[in-house]
Amino acid sequence: MLTRNEIKKSKRIVIKIGSSIVTDENEVIDERFLNHLAEQINFLQSKGKEIIIVSSGAVASGMMVLKIKEKPKSISEKQALAAFGQGYLIAKYNEFFSKFGMLIAQVLLTSEDIADRKRYLNAKNTLETLISKKIIPIINENDTVATSEIRLGDNDNLSAEVACLLEADLLIILSDVEGFYEDDPRKRKSVKIIDTVTDVGKYIEKVSNLSGSKVGTGGIYTKLQAAKKVMLMGIPCVLAKGKMENVILKILKGEKIGTFFVPLEKKISHKKYFIAFNVKPKGKIIIDDGAKEALIKRGKSLLPSGVIKTVGNFDVGDVVEIEDKKNNKIARGLVNYSAVEVEKIKGAKSSEIEKKLGYKYEDEVIHRNNLVLI
Ligand code: GLU
Repeated sequence: MLTRNEIKKSKRIVIKIGSSIVTDENEVIDERFLNHLAEQINFLQSKGKEIIIVSSGAVASGMMVLKIKEKPKSISEKQALAAFGQGYLIAKYNEFFSKFGMLIAQVLLTSEDIADRKRYLNAKNTLETLISKKIIPIINENDTVATSEIRLGDNDNLSAEVACLLEADLLIILSDVEGFYEDDPRKRKSVKIIDTVTDVGKYIEKVSNLSGSKVGTGGIYTKLQAAKKVMLMGIPCVLAKGKMENVILKILKGEKIGTFFVPLEKKISHKKYFIAFNVKPKGKIIIDDGAKEALIKRGKSLLPSGVIKTVGNFDVGDVVEIEDKKNNKIARGLVNYSAVEVEKIKGAKSSEIEKKLGYKYEDEVIHRNNLVLI
């Protein structure tokens, strides 16, 4: 199991900066914070580290400059605010980073840029080029054009996507919380932060049940999602309080700061990661208990005999979600048959596929190699 001490060796580091730490109600941008951030990154760059920043704060700084107290409801107003605030934000990054002689570049991404193979490679190449020139990418979601279908919606998940895309060695999420609390610290004062997390799945379930909303307890839900993504790809993650003195340097010394999320030793392949996170499922396949056990406990493929029914109109090669009878999400996978075909062969043995359809592609509805457990 990877230890905190080993993250000292990390070369490529993605750092996520939350809106609440980069902005300040009185002066719009917390200049002291930004200056200290630049100072730490300057030090790390001098040691040969490659730093990539994912920064929120476009909407928040836009609101503060324009003295708007409440987030507008309409999407176009929010998008306009993001466009205005992003310019302001990036100008401030430039001001403080250039004081230390560092160069920055603005990169705005949508989830489509990651889901589409060509755009994915394009984004990767651009970022790699910037990194090779020692220019620090400051990434945000392209809120101005990202409508709901192509929106990631939060920069925690975006930072995880970026860390995976760039095969980073470490993801640091800087926030206004000290780390991950198992309970809501606003409700239970005595609750302490968890030092090390290995099984993030159980907490994700708990947090989503707890809050019933995507925001979770203080936005922790999306942070856990982000941690899970990178852990699957073998990348460690540390969640810590952004305004602590020298927080990044302390984390990189292996000090016990915040919560350390331990990555899987045997990471999943890029293909499986893509199936699990980057592609939107086109439908669902509901399976019986026997198939559920075969998938979870025995690492088997999904056969037609275990299928109860399909939902949605998916085609061959689409990604679908696999759920049990109680609609618990079990896995995602690439289907070998369309929804219409699965409806015809559901419940049947693989040897009966040809009789039912008049042809047969494969024995499995979803082959194990194209299936990821959630
Ligand atoms: N992209 C949004 C912004 O810059 C922030 C999203 C988030 O905080 O996760 O305002």
